[in-house]
Amino acid sequence: MTSRRLCEPKLRVCAFLIALLALSACERPQVYDTQFLAFGTLVEVTVYGADRQLAEHAFDAARADFQFLHRSWRAWKPSAVTRANAAIAAGRSIELAPVLEPLIEPAQRLSRLSGELFNPAIGKLIELWGFHSDDYAGRRPPVNARIDALVSQHSSMRDLVLEDGRLSSSNRSVQLDFGAFAKGVGVGRVVEHLRRIGVDNLIVNAGGDLRAIGAHGERPWRIGIRNPLAEGVLASVEINADESVFTSGNYERYFEFRGRRYHHIIDPRTGYPARGATSVTVIHADPGTADAAATALFVAGPRHWHSVAHAMGLGQVMLIDTQGRAHMTAAMAERTRFEVDPPPPIIVNKGS
Ligand code: ADP
Ligand code: MG
Repeated sequence: MTSRRLCEPKLRVCAFLIALLALSACERPQVYDTQFLAFGTLVEVTVYGADRQLAEHAFDAARADFQFLHRSWRAWKPSAVTRANAAIAAGRSIELAPVLEPLIEPAQRLSRLSGELFNPAIGKLIELWGFHSDDYAGRRPPVNARIDALVSQHSSMRDLVLEDGRLSSSNRSVQLDFGAFAKGVGVGRVVEHLRRIGVDNLIVNAGGDLRAIGAHGERPWRIGIRNPLAEGVLASVEINADESVFTSGNYERYFEFRGRRYHHIIDPRTGYPARGATSVTVIHADPGTADAAATALFVAGPRHWHSVAHAMGLGQVMLIDTQGRAHMTAAMAERTRFEVDPPPPIIVNKGS
């Protein structure tokens, strides 16, 4: 009896402490994440410091946004982009769909700044090479004459005319394909949306291309950059406040024919896959700019990337060439930690 009376208050204290602990564990900020497929890749959303309910609300919003944007912006199944392309091919004008507004003018500007190495008007070339589909079985390069015929049509974002809310093109060979840009713009918009609903620390990572805001508690987010020449991570960087990291690589989509690799980043000047680079990583405040720039610098290659980077106003770039050397701006070299031993030969661009 005595022992029971002694025990009961103790038990109550214990129960109270356990409940308190459980409650504080629930309220302690923690990491939540989710994954889903969008834009032809695995998207991962990671949030820190939000409660479970907010995190789940954010995941639902991200999933719905990505699906909507992907359906609106895809170039190879019915979408606002294919409707615009049909009008251009027929020499007609078409009302500019609101969902295309974040793509057309920004892409025109970035294309101009890149000297048209980033050129989303070359959809016909992408289609000719077959990179609009994921089925590469038995694929071989197109014949030269067909490539040359398309290159000589000079499809350019400059040909597009926006007037009174209508879109037209002075060149009917223009076929829009935002494969090098849409993921960047999409990631940017999804992060804005999640920020508006109250998530302050998060990463939206679409197949290694990402935007991160805030931090992981006391420490910044640390991001891995894939090794284009072997499995695994080549390097990592810490992210400050709000930055985007986008990489274009020759390993994403390609086929092999007679011992040569033909990948999906096309040099609009030649009509052939760009040579000299295996991957380009760009860090920038704006994810659309980072995405377009990674493609443009990949096309520019190890000899010319820095002049294009300068023209596009980029400070943080790393290009891995076909021999595995890392060409970098000084600012990028400063913050990059190589995760391979030995690290690759590093060539820091003096003018950057
Ligand atoms: P990733 O597929 O790794 O995101 P990119 O951002 O470089 O790579 O996008 C490549 C895609 O962009 C291609 O699949 C094609 O649809 C399109 N593309 C290829 N070459 C160019 C180019 N020079 N300018 C604009 N878009 C391109
Ligand atoms: Mg890109």
